[in-house]
Amino acid sequence: MDAKTVSQILNELGENREDYFNAVAPPIIQASNFAFKKVDEMRKAFEDEFSTFLYSRGLNPTVKILSQKLAALDGAEDCLVFNSGAGAIFAAVFSNVKSGDHIISVDKPYTWAQKLFDNILPRFNVSVTYVDGRKIENFEKAIQENTSIIYLETPNSWSFYLQDLEAVGKLARSKKIVTICDNSYCTPLYQRPIDYGIDLALQSATKYINGHSDVIAGVLSGSKALIKKIFNSEFLNMGIGTTPFNAWLMLRGLRTLDVRLARISETTKKVVDFLKSHEKVEKVVFPFDEDFPQYELAKKQMKEACGLFSFYIKTDSIKEIETFCESLQHILMAVSWGGYESLIIPGCASVKEEDFNSNDPDQRRLRMYVGLEDPQYIIDDLERGFLNMQN
Ligand SMILES: *Cc1c(COP(=O)(O)O)cnc(C)c1O
Repeated sequence: MDAKTVSQILNELGENREDYFNAVAPPIIQASNFAFKKVDEMRKAFEDEFSTFLYSRGLNPTVKILSQKLAALDGAEDCLVFNSGAGAIFAAVFSNVKSGDHIISVDKPYTWAQKLFDNILPRFNVSVTYVDGRKIENFEKAIQENTSIIYLETPNSWSFYLQDLEAVGKLARSKKIVTICDNSYCTPLYQRPIDYGIDLALQSATKYINGHSDVIAGVLSGSKALIKKIFNSEFLNMGIGTTPFNAWLMLRGLRTLDVRLARISETTKKVVDFLKSHEKVEKVVFPFDEDFPQYELAKKQMKEACGLFSFYIKTDSIKEIETFCESLQHILMAVSWGGYESLIIPGCASVKEEDFNSNDPDQRRLRMYVGLEDPQYIIDDLERGFLNMQN
């Protein structure tokens, strides 16, 4: 997608300004229901709620402006906007399985995808096989006669492992298996799974799409047929669409998506370079780093990498890791990512202090998100952490 197309989508697509007093910013249509003048119009709406404003649990005009833009960014025929990324995952998976089916998922997908596979689906007699997604053979070997979904997340938001989207897409199509890819890391500006033959692309819009740490939302894009099927079933049944107000906030955030990502990518490279050359750092794991084992694949299917990576401090001591994190004055210790503020999550926060095992890389890992601040402001803060650690 060229930059001009992106501008056209962010600024114009779906915005019929003459419908609302030529206002430059789109309105929040805070309405639960929509009236009809003719019985036949109402009848048509009952027959096909997917194409009509009837009731805001289904379609809403503010949400529609947003979903048209998001579908276009994904290169998809249509999309739905959910009140969380987890909701988008749930609907995408649930709509494509029945009792007795089997799912193949990449190892350690996003926590709530994993909980869906491990805790909820077994109750409905759906099983899952986790595979190391770095090799296409692992998907091939895991396919069973009843496999209905291959679930991907590339790059993975913790390990940063990639899957070859083109190869998996081709394999799955040949076996009529539905593919779902969590694209939260890249956003469609930096990777478009649907272009590689993936059926459903999803994102947590909480992250870059909204981009201001103030909305929880999710996006699911795909063919009109798949999206309509989900709309008429899981989406309407669970009532998990986003609200007009949150859609409006996302439209506001979306205006600057490309500038924010460009700034974040540039700053991230500087921060990664700083960490890589730091004597206290053991290693940095970042898909667009030349030393990243899947760098070639990253270059092939991703246009850029954004602000998320992890690094390991040269220490076996949980105390030192904690001192490092607690010494930071600007980088906030918080989950999530995609907003203005740089963030950090220490892996050791997931275990009790007395259970800390320095041989487990996950426990020593620091996952960092680089936000929109000045690069030196972030680097100086990290340096403060390293200096305090030594004292
Ligand atoms: C945050 C996140 C989600 C879930 O999105 P929510 O908006 O928090 O429900 C899904 N996948 C990835 C990779 C995420 O980081």
